[in-house]
Amino acid sequence: MDIEKGAIEKLSRLVQEAGKVVCIMHKNPDGDAVGASLAMSRVMLNINKSCKVISPNAYPAFLHWMPGNEDVVVYDKKATEARKVLKEADVVFFLDFNMANRIGKVEEALEEIQGETVMIDHHPEPDAFAGLTFSDTSVSSTCEYVFAILDAIGLGKHLDKEAAACLYTGIMTDTGSFSYNSSRPYTYHVVSQLLERGIDKDKIYGSVYDNYSENRMRLLGHMLLDRMEVLEAYNTAFIYLTRKDLKKFRHVPGDTEGFVNYPLAIKGVRFTAIFIEKESEGGVKISFRSKGSFPANEFSSAHFNGGGHRNAAGGHFQGTLEQALAKFRQELPKYSDLLNKTK
Ligand code: 5GP
Ligand code: MN
Repeated sequence: MDIEKGAIEKLSRLVQEAGKVVCIMHKNPDGDAVGASLAMSRVMLNINKSCKVISPNAYPAFLHWMPGNEDVVVYDKKATEARKVLKEADVVFFLDFNMANRIGKVEEALEEIQGETVMIDHHPEPDAFAGLTFSDTSVSSTCEYVFAILDAIGLGKHLDKEAAACLYTGIMTDTGSFSYNSSRPYTYHVVSQLLERGIDKDKIYGSVYDNYSENRMRLLGHMLLDRMEVLEAYNTAFIYLTRKDLKKFRHVPGDTEGFVNYPLAIKGVRFTAIFIEKESEGGVKISFRSKGSFPANEFSSAHFNGGGHRNAAGGHFQGTLEQALAKFRQELPKYSDLLNKTK
């Protein structure tokens, strides 16, 4: 794939000269954020750099099997250590986010950084807060992009089976197991390179997707039966979960991952949203998914303080669940024409 030559040369030099490297992923990291960070870190360790990975908060158990997981510094739990690591770093990678407010409280620690910063991301409209920015919305995932960049700076040979497993995880999760964002041949070139390194893709799939509790399955059933509304006039379906629902089914972080996709399987539905009442901080966390040209990210940034990709976005609402749902119903008619387009 095409990556600007000047940027590659600069990154190559930065990495060569660096002793200490840090990778930061976004808050509530997904497979792509964790995968990209752990893979980058693993390659840095393989070339004898010191490297630490910082996550703003803890992430779901279905990503804990990933190589390097046990060394991740969780900022929520170890802020002092994370700040020290940032202060000492020669190079800091920002992986899978392009706005400083996506890293929660870690944002306030960015001022500690004295080294160089490098963003690698695939979301639209990057903010200019990194010294060096790699931003490409055409790749399937940050993991795919990390592969391309490591390859371009000549570090492909240090990308071992463990790092490959991390990158495969991000490509798999960001494409819904190759069901969207995955029509470019280059993605499969990368996958074939990862398979060459000996990864077991079926095992990775099982570790991520066949690893849920019985409670999670029953919460899903409850949601589809009693917490889903289909708005046929707008080709839209939305779902919601109350704090009480989460408690009843002993929800743990990660349980609701993927729930927002289910209503998209209803014939005609091309826009879905899930509203989840937050357990501690108050407010409502929202995820949006769409098919085709409907811009879920624009809807989210216009009405729910969020953003993301055209077909997968997120946001939040300060207020009650009822107010969030009322706002959604109220804004939807304005998008009637777009929602009724067939493409
Ligand atoms: P998810 O629904 O899985 O949390 O997020 C889907 C996509 O939307 C992700 O790619 C993520 O980057 C983006 N996203 C999720 N929440 C937010 C948010 O609060 N603000 C912004 N700008 N993007 C978000
Ligand atoms: Mn991603």
